[in-house]
Amino acid sequence: MVFMSEIRVPTVFTRIIAREIPADIVFEDDRIIAFRDINPQAPVHLLVVPKTEQYRNVSELASRDPGLLADIIATAKRLADEHCGGDFRLIFNEGEATGQTVFHVHAHVLGVLPGDALAEESLAH
Ligand code: AMP
Repeated sequence: MVFMSEIRVPTVFTRIIAREIPADIVFEDDRIIAFRDINPQAPVHLLVVPKTEQYRNVSELASRDPGLLADIIATAKRLADEHCGGDFRLIFNEGEATGQTVFHVHAHVLGVLPGDALAEESLAH
């Protein structure tokens, strides 16, 4: 017998990985995908997401697979080099009170376009 609590609905990010939902994908390898946030809060706003959805937030990821967390951060840096001149703000929301809406751990990479002045309000999230 299968109980309702055992049925996991795929997260929106898993559906992007499966190409069920379109996304502007900027990077992908066997463990990580990155794409543009659909509702950008900065001139450059990328999401870096592990392909596994088994970690709901960054604390779970850090305690159970720190190597994967390190790879996410290294990917964020490479993408920032490519898209926003190397400087970036990295955000992990954890919990509804912080505005987390997708419980499949992901890093927000926020930056400005190369040559643009930093405007604090343009990196709000
Ligand atoms: P969080 O609030 O930290 O859980 O972040 C979830 C992020 O996912 C938000 O910034 C959303 O704009 C973004 N998002 C939700 N659905 C999509 C989608 N289909 N494609 C790209 N980004 C999405």
